[in-house]
Amino acid sequence: MRLIQVLNSCLLLLVPVPLLADGVITADATKFGRIASLDSAKVTLLSGCAGQQQESIPWSDILLVSFDTRCAPYPVIPDPAGLEKCSEQRVHGFRIRFTNSSAPFVASKVGLDASGKVRFVSLKDGSLVSGPRKDVKSVQPVEVCPSALSGEQTPPTSFCSEAAQFAVNWSLDPVFNNQIFTKGTSIYLETIGNLNGLSPEDIRFAYQSALSLWAIALQGARASLEAELQKYIDQSTARGGNFALFTPPQVVRVNCADNALAVVKWYGERGDIFTVQRRDYVAMAQVEGRTVLLNANDNVFMVSRNDASLPQAAVNLISVFVHELGHSFGMPDRAHSSEASVMDPDYVIDNLNKTLSPTPVDVRAFANLLKASIEGSAPGVFNTEGCAGLRRRHI
Ligand SMILES: [Zn+2]
Repeated sequence: MRLIQVLNSCLLLLVPVPLLADGVITADATKFGRIASLDSAKVTLLSGCAGQQQESIPWSDILLVSFDTRCAPYPVIPDPAGLEKCSEQRVHGFRIRFTNSSAPFVASKVGLDASGKVRFVSLKDGSLVSGPRKDVKSVQPVEVCPSALSGEQTPPTSFCSEAAQFAVNWSLDPVFNNQIFTKGTSIYLETIGNLNGLSPEDIRFAYQSALSLWAIALQGARASLEAELQKYIDQSTARGGNFALFTPPQVVRVNCADNALAVVKWYGERGDIFTVQRRDYVAMAQVEGRTVLLNANDNVFMVSRNDASLPQAAVNLISVFVHELGHSFGMPDRAHSSEASVMDPDYVIDNLNKTLSPTPVDVRAFANLLKASIEGSAPGVFNTEGCAGLRRRHI
């Protein structure tokens, strides 16, 4: 054990109350400043008590990083290390301490981004944890014995924990220029009111089915597509002796909104969007966006891939997602279309209990949109100006 006398880099501080700053403690000095970002390789510090100069410090030089501490020297007593027996290879990790919790968390990776969220990966089970930097007291690089880690590591309640999930051939990369259609996606389900008999998995399945129907329609039109889209289809197709298996983008449902590429907001009660004036709406979506709102207060949503199985009054959530995903990718409504189209609101409204697939005219529009440079708004962003709604007609 070694007591480190911290050298003061802020001797000219004249105010009686020391400023708060972040501290990066190395073997022979403490550097004060503001941590601009950090990842598993290095810490980027705007150094000086007022944080003027940018400096990059590798973790190999660091004993401890402390957040929101006094901009003044103080002694640091590192944890004892190397005393425990370990029958296996020690691994490199980070011990994270919290402001309001005595139990530390051991992570294999750590990061702090411009949004002010600290993110880390549990060394024990690979779960992804994120939360506000104000609740993190310090981060310390450590060599740990994996079997000595306690079974249960619980971060403070202000942190969100995401269990590791696996999906086949999954990637967040866009397929072409349009950034909204990716090779895999993650959705966050926000529920207002109750789910009226459906489960979160039913909603994920409906979203997955709708996305699959768009991808399968594209695959069916392969011969007429741009080389870039043909390449995507070929890379997503496994071939054996006498079979070909196409894997559409897989959808995982995440527990933390931060990890989602798209947000589905389920209104099981009236809420702020589907007001009495908007009760005819079935759903809404941000055009060129990543947000879909469902009016489950005025509609009975059910999920089925089989047309015959849904009662007349039910609304097949798969078809609603097919239409709203079209808006997400950037398609406007195709009102009174001469050819059948899932983007024609009348066609969808007249077939609400059926399973609708994109038609040839939809696939052509989709393939063209995928070429366009569309960034799209962030997940959860919704403004009624830039949105489109699927609305029942008054009879
Ligand atoms: Zn629409």
